[in-house]
Amino acid sequence: MASPPSATVNDVHCHFLSPRFLEALGREKHGAGGASSGQVARELGWDDPCSVELLADRWAGELDRHHIARAALIGSVAGDEDSIAAAIARHPRRFIGFFALNPAAPDGAERASRAFGELGLRTACLFPALHRYALDSEPVIKLFEIAAAHGGAIFAHCGHLWIEARAKLGLPSVRDLRLGDPLALAVTASRFPTVPVIIPHFGAGFFREALMAADGCPNIHFDTSSSNSWMKFTPGLTLCEVFRRALAVVGPDRVIFGTDSSSFPRGWRQVICGAQQTALEEAGVEASVVAKIFRGNFERIFGEA
Ligand SMILES: [Zn+2]
Repeated sequence: MASPPSATVNDVHCHFLSPRFLEALGREKHGAGGASSGQVARELGWDDPCSVELLADRWAGELDRHHIARAALIGSVAGDEDSIAAAIARHPRRFIGFFALNPAAPDGAERASRAFGELGLRTACLFPALHRYALDSEPVIKLFEIAAAHGGAIFAHCGHLWIEARAKLGLPSVRDLRLGDPLALAVTASRFPTVPVIIPHFGAGFFREALMAADGCPNIHFDTSSSNSWMKFTPGLTLCEVFRRALAVVGPDRVIFGTDSSSFPRGWRQVICGAQQTALEEAGVEASVVAKIFRGNFERIFGEA
């Protein structure tokens, strides 16, 4: 039986879609006057988060309901570090903080130092195809230096990029997919071996490149999150085979469970968890490895609650 008891699950990929996140989208869609977070939530067909505090409590309740121990909450627009810090402060034993950052922005380095330092967030999240910079460029090297100094981690979205809220509002998610190349990330990651690096969705279509990057770079990890619909770009590939190949290349310590849960009322995505448990069972992965994927690897990187 590949399924771990559900209470032993940590989820490394949940989006915390705060009022500030929705307001930022509202400004992008409707111009300077923007729209309230409630209006944007209605446009998206989502529940209004109302406040950071209420959204944090809703997430904590959602983890309880599904018997999930802990989750990484991702501040999903650059400049939303304070929302994440407030959510963590409310439930410090349940959440750890990730924050979207554009390292090439004029205030990128300063924001990163504050987020890793004063705010105690753990991981900077990069979207190079959206913000348009190379993963081996100077601002990214500077960010790795800051992460190394604070014991922080880096999450870098490589490959195909589709951001649900942006797509629904008719805003672009992708400006240059070539910038999400895991091999460029490996150039930087290999210079900072103490900085854990997470590539979500097994490289989201750059699977071969992600495997090659991780093979030569022991600090690179994969998160398993989302429906992994990028598999459509590799005919015949199945989730079972993705797990098999990833584990064969990086071993049991560098694959971390995530769902890519985001909005309410949908909430935590049990169906994603179930599909991954089934795939691991089909792949014949032993229970000790399954336990590392669903809990142990998260705790090794981020500590115990
Ligand atoms: Zn995501």
